[in-house]
Amino acid sequence: MSEPHRTAELEAILKDPGFCRHSTGHTAVVDWDADTGWSDPRVEPWRDLAMDPATLGLHYGQAVFEGLKAFRAMDGSVHLFRPEDHGRRLARSAARLAMAEMPAELFARACAALVAGDERWVPDGYGQSLYLRPLLIATEPDLGLRPSKRYRCVILAYPADPCFGAGFRPLSVTTSTETVRAVRGGTGEAKCAGNYAVSLLTRSEAQASGYDEVLWLDGLGRRRIEELSTMNVFLVWRDGTEPRVTTPPCDGTIVRGLTRDSLLTLATDRGIAVAEEHTTIDAVRAGLRSGRLAEVFACGTAGVVVPVGRLGIGGEDMTVDDGGEGPMTALLRNSLLDVQHGRTPDAHGWLQTILRADENGGRRV
Ligand SMILES: *Cc1c(COP(=O)(O)O)cnc(C)c1O
Repeated sequence: MSEPHRTAELEAILKDPGFCRHSTGHTAVVDWDADTGWSDPRVEPWRDLAMDPATLGLHYGQAVFEGLKAFRAMDGSVHLFRPEDHGRRLARSAARLAMAEMPAELFARACAALVAGDERWVPDGYGQSLYLRPLLIATEPDLGLRPSKRYRCVILAYPADPCFGAGFRPLSVTTSTETVRAVRGGTGEAKCAGNYAVSLLTRSEAQASGYDEVLWLDGLGRRRIEELSTMNVFLVWRDGTEPRVTTPPCDGTIVRGLTRDSLLTLATDRGIAVAEEHTTIDAVRAGLRSGRLAEVFACGTAGVVVPVGRLGIGGEDMTVDDGGEGPMTALLRNSLLDVQHGRTPDAHGWLQTILRADENGGRRV
């Protein structure tokens, strides 16, 4: 191995990658056509998508996406976290919008091909990762309202910093009783483009008032808490001696976060009491007042686990405990990252190995 593993330029990027600032310059592409079905995945240089202006996906919103990560373990090996589970969720999102459902195994193979080719772009630091953004969009040109007969899945890759550590601060979130993100029977559970478009106006208003994000309430009663625009939400209650961790159930209006699922599993493994249950915003307010609600955090693939330090409820600004990060939030985040970086055993088969330690030229990180 005479070639250095990374150029000085790439080393500089990986020291401070930020989030989605530098793509690897490659994509993995899989096409679907009603006549021929799914193509094999191919890795290509990054390039514009050429689309007819009458393309169905642009007019009627048949567009869904995913977000997943590849991590480097301490021995230098590289692993994707739950790629087939992300593939299954992409297929469920696609089914809701009458789009072609890619087999999870094919999805995982496409992600693996991209990560293997761009292996040197997987950073070494704890919490750092290569973030993959798969997009599935209808590509057939036609203005008749009907499901497309052609789709393209294109997967993008970016080295990413974790959203915590130096310079990181807890989130402040607010609620809205004016607008809603989802109602039962709608598309709230799908990771579809339209769900993010509907969140933008209220998010922008929240940000203009000094908040980072919106904690969405249920679409009918506007009383139960649901999730943030891109992350699920957890509450940590301390009423007796043992803490209790709760999160709203997946009733069709929230995205079934794989981070959410992983944290519920890891907490249960550790003997922590967990429950999927509804909580009203009034109960949140009362819990913060009495101190029984000790921690609030948000979680998702991109942000991992982020504490919520401040909550705006009906014009009242409330601090969660002392406004900093609580011990359960830190414990659960580190439990997850330890599995992702191979520091603790992968008891649930969540890691798919892309590059073994003995295949990487003996490097150690
Ligand atoms: C992606 C997403 C999540 C988190 O899902 P993960 O699988 O944990 O990344 C939660 N809520 C919304 C609205 C999302 O888009």
